[in-house]
Amino acid sequence: MKICVVTDMEGLAGVDAWEQCYATDDASPAYRHGLEQLAADTNAAVAGCLDAGATEVVVWDGHGRNGQRAFTRVALDPRAKRRRLEVGTPVRLDGLDTATAGVVMVGQHAMAGTLGGFLDHTQCPKEICRFLINGEEHGEMSQFALHAGAFGVPLLHVSGDEALCAEARRLFPWVGTTATKRGTGWETCELYPTGTVRANIRQDVAAAIKRLSQAQVWRLPSPIEVTVEYAWSALADRLAAVPGVRRSHARVVSWTIPDGRWIYNWPSVDWHPVG
Ligand SMILES: [Zn+2]
Repeated sequence: MKICVVTDMEGLAGVDAWEQCYATDDASPAYRHGLEQLAADTNAAVAGCLDAGATEVVVWDGHGRNGQRAFTRVALDPRAKRRRLEVGTPVRLDGLDTATAGVVMVGQHAMAGTLGGFLDHTQCPKEICRFLINGEEHGEMSQFALHAGAFGVPLLHVSGDEALCAEARRLFPWVGTTATKRGTGWETCELYPTGTVRANIRQDVAAAIKRLSQAQVWRLPSPIEVTVEYAWSALADRLAAVPGVRRSHARVVSWTIPDGRWIYNWPSVDWHPVG
């Protein structure tokens, strides 16, 4: 049984500051602290996968600022395999295929605009106000559920702040959740004790995998419409110039993808949507 895990940092236990996720200097003590929290939460999830009988655990470092190098700097449980997100058309998460039993998210954050979300955002913090799939607001958790769903693979468990857990319960009621903290402002939160949270992650991930037969695959009929509302018109200009992209408002652009495999491909010189 193969389980794939994608990691992020804003929703980690023990992370309570922007600098811990985004400091530009690799040697920054705050960022180093963030990476250590990443390893601890991820290794708890890996242990949970193995407890539940997984025979293969694949981990991707999904936090953009890390450049996929986080687990070269802090140690991933050697029983898990470190894999990469491969740029391409469509983007490929190396190891995610139809043979995968389920996917798990660690350190995830709520979608842009969530009240009570700590560092909530969708893709670009401070630039994107809303991200919509077929006209409904979604965030990065939904993108991953849709991407995995295109391979027939269900999202099984997420860990993150209370706002992310509430988002999961609302959109994907079969998904298990572990709360790591409670947001008190965009950049402030109340952390829960990290030892307890990591014990919960291990236990809850294992329980979610054992409920696999109740999990649902999130698949949408083709075609799927993606809409992005930017905070500022100039931010929409570049995408609006790509063939196939529609602009319904100075700050709002939309495009169409054939299925969830394409959710991570944004219109660019390398790829433009059809129609
Ligand atoms: Zn992130």
